[in-house]
Amino acid sequence: MRSVIVHYKEIALKGRNRPWFITRLVRALRTATADVGGERVQSLMGRIEIVLRPGADWDAVRERVARVFGVANFSFANRAPLDIDGIAAAILEDLGDRTTDSFRVSARRADKRFPLTSPQIEREVGGRIKEIKGWRVDLDEPGLTIYLEMLPGEAFYFFGKEPGAGGLPTGVSGRVACLLSGGIDSPVAAFRMMRRGCSVQLIHFHSYPILSRASIDKVKELATLLTQYQQRSRLQLVAFGDIQRQVVLSAPQPLRVVLYRRLMMRIAEDLARRARAQALVTGEVVGQVASQTLENLRVIGDVASLPIFRPLIGMDKDEISAEAERIGTYPISIIPDQDCCQLFTPKHPATRARLRDVEAAEADLSIADMVRTAVETVETEDYRFP
Ligand code: ATP
Ligand code: MG
Repeated sequence: MRSVIVHYKEIALKGRNRPWFITRLVRALRTATADVGGERVQSLMGRIEIVLRPGADWDAVRERVARVFGVANFSFANRAPLDIDGIAAAILEDLGDRTTDSFRVSARRADKRFPLTSPQIEREVGGRIKEIKGWRVDLDEPGLTIYLEMLPGEAFYFFGKEPGAGGLPTGVSGRVACLLSGGIDSPVAAFRMMRRGCSVQLIHFHSYPILSRASIDKVKELATLLTQYQQRSRLQLVAFGDIQRQVVLSAPQPLRVVLYRRLMMRIAEDLARRARAQALVTGEVVGQVASQTLENLRVIGDVASLPIFRPLIGMDKDEISAEAERIGTYPISIIPDQDCCQLFTPKHPATRARLRDVEAAEADLSIADMVRTAVETVETEDYRFP
């Protein structure tokens, strides 16, 4: 019977929230692996064991577990009886004709009742392996690390560790709503909040049928991809073209973009509250474009009473793009589309919109009606992974 042993970071798990964290992590791992060979997932004294069915698809399991937030690292493990000779024999058999010039054994006792201390176990098991294999012991930079974990009733051993996705298990931090464009930034912002344990509701504004469906198709693809990390997503598509038309008819040109953004915030906030989300999230970055000067960010943020989180606020485009590559959203984000904000956008938008002017322009609009209509006609799609 083979298993995956999953480690999480203890630091995040202090205090009363601990059992809840572990329950969520166990549940996420169960969902992630059930269809690729995960038979049972259980919490085992400070680590989690995924028991694999015979013939489980290890590559698929690896890919799945690597996307589960809250995992510090994980390993494909085997079990051995709780005695030194038995452990050494099992490891030697599993090593087969594997070679290395140096190695070390790293042991941990989850169950302190085992009569030897960890250093003693390391010496005893290491000695037996050295004797048979002739490998040099190197405690600082070993070519191969053999990990041993002593649990009640059995020992687990594994060679090497795979890095996990880090962060906190999905859902432990509550829900937020992310304004998701088809661009590079906002999917990264959504991902960062997911990694901190938030479940992220996705809200997209489009100008179909005035513009093509390209941005809608893109956010659907982005939602599919991001769902690989949070396992369930809700995407909401808001028809924004008519609203933009009304803004264009009455508002001074330079203020259009800020007015669009304030309307987006109001609509997103309404949708967020209905879903009991506790904050809004955007991919805004100080100074990246005209609408993102400090002045404009302030005027835009002024309409929302939920907090607005901007996880990318101090990042460069290069850094954000590199992160988008790692997550996998980049190739989708760079597909050309017709973003609703390019619609009726003036050549020279106000870089320092004044709240007074913006509010004066809004006085001519029936803001409440616009928000109500947008919310009433929103399209909702649910995603699941796997
Ligand atoms: P992105 O790469 O995320 O599109 P950007 O650099 O293009 O960002 P803006 O277009 O000014 O910047 O958008 C700023 C933020 O406003 C976006 O990160 C996103 O959170 C939100 N936003 C913009 N357009 C839309 C849209 N059509 N639907 C939903 N949110 C949007
Ligand atoms: Mg954009």
